[in-house]
Amino acid sequence: MGLRFASLGSGSKGNATLVATDETLVLVDCGFGIREAQRRMALLGVDPASIDAMVVTHEHGDHLKGVGSLARRYKMPVYMTAGTWLSGRTGDIPDLHLLTPEQRFAIKDIEIDPVTVPHDAREPVQFLIEAGGARLGFLTDLGFATDHVQKRYRNCNGLVIECNHDVRMLAEGPYPMSLKRRVGGYWGHLANMQAVELLRHLGTDRLEKIVASHLSEKNNRPELAHSALYPLLDGDESRLVIAAQDKGAGWQTLARA
Ligand SMILES: [Zn+2]
Ligand SMILES: [Zn+2]
Repeated sequence: MGLRFASLGSGSKGNATLVATDETLVLVDCGFGIREAQRRMALLGVDPASIDAMVVTHEHGDHLKGVGSLARRYKMPVYMTAGTWLSGRTGDIPDLHLLTPEQRFAIKDIEIDPVTVPHDAREPVQFLIEAGGARLGFLTDLGFATDHVQKRYRNCNGLVIECNHDVRMLAEGPYPMSLKRRVGGYWGHLANMQAVELLRHLGTDRLEKIVASHLSEKNNRPELAHSALYPLLDGDESRLVIAAQDKGAGWQTLARA
């Protein structure tokens, strides 16, 4: 029982995560082109033809790039909001399912709750995923943790959480001022310390795995995310994984929540 998940890679150049039970395999986002996605899946021992469905958070290229071509090549069902679909960035999708934020749906034995988040896309959501008694939260691409997010992400035993930037590196870094404002603003991305505050609020006792994700290559460093989150781990570093842009993070297993 429980569930397994693995990042194919995470960061502003592409995000994709596999979620698996014994029966079902779901791909959350695909910000890699089809060949690159196939290569990364092969490294994780996955045949793309065995994926039951894709679920998509929003239309930014780092989450969407390979969605249309994978869907057409493997005839995969794809779930996304109407706003994401209407962005027109996927091309034709043969088996499209429009999801409604805050309405649960299921892909075989995996149950999925799409949660509304503040981000500068048309109708972005993040996902709470339940299967085999485990509860995995995806939470990247949001400017801040709203009250709604703080309520919905209680009781997870695994969390893929955005640690996009270090506030100081962003302020002093190479981005033009307009992009600094966008990334650090209410519809942008979570900083390391925002992730820490949210984790403190949610409580970390029941979290078996925290996967720090969507790290900016220019405005963050894995060591900074690690040292920000380390005090929350009760000294057990094995609970923290930092997902990398090039290698993602290998298979993680969650037991029953
Ligand atoms: Zn993103
Ligand atoms: Zn985004």
